Order: sequence, then C-alpha cells, then structure tokens
Amino acid sequence: MPEPMTLRSFETLTYRDFSNGAVLDEIAEALAERERLLKERKAIQSQSCVLTCVYCGQAYPPGTPASNHDALTEHIKQCPRHPLAAALRENRELRRECDLLAAKLELLDPATESNG
Ligand SMILES: [Zn+2]
Repeated sequence: MPEPMTLRSFETLTYRDFSNGAVLDEIAEALAERERLLKERKAIQSQSCVLTCVYCGQAYPPGTPASNHDALTEHIKQCPRHPLAAALRENRELRRECDLLAAKLELLDPATESNG
C-alpha cells in the first residue's frame, strides 16, 4: 500500500497550485474524502475478517459464537497440527510420568512404608 497522502505531502507535490491557492479547497476536500474512504474500507475489512488457524485451516467467520479470538484460542490448544497443542500434550504426558515416578519413589522410600 502506498504511503498515506497527507496535506503536507500533497502540498510538496503540487506546490505551484497550492501556493497560489487555486485548488486549495479541492485538495483539502479530496484529502478529507480520502480519509473517510480509508476509514470506511478499514471498517468493511474488519467486518469481513475471518480468523483462520494457520496450521490446519479451521476458519472462524464473523458470527462465530462468543468472541472469535476465544474460539480460535480454544481450537489452537487442541489443533492436531498446532505446535502449542503438541507442547501441551507433551506436558500432560510428562506430568503423568513424573507422578508415576514419584509414586514409585514413595513405595521405595522406607520412611513411607509404615503408611501402607
Ligand atoms: Zn488448527
């Protein structure tokens, strides 16, 4: 996208017309209209924004229940292709393994034998 046209940059480009005031109103109106159109385009683009999981393509179009961001965040935690989901799975497996090892260690510890 080109640099946003400002009154200053337009003045630099059209200094001859600008300095004699011939098209000053037209320039100001054109720039104001441009600002309105840029805002309108941005608003339309944000309305049609579809959040998509970049790893599997799961899409959350406008109208998705709750907030779109929350829906995508929940999906990412369970997405079969997303690295975060893989990391969370691995953490769960490590937690289970640590619990099993800790339980075995307690069985071997003579100080805890009297409890059982
Ligand atoms: Zn996904």
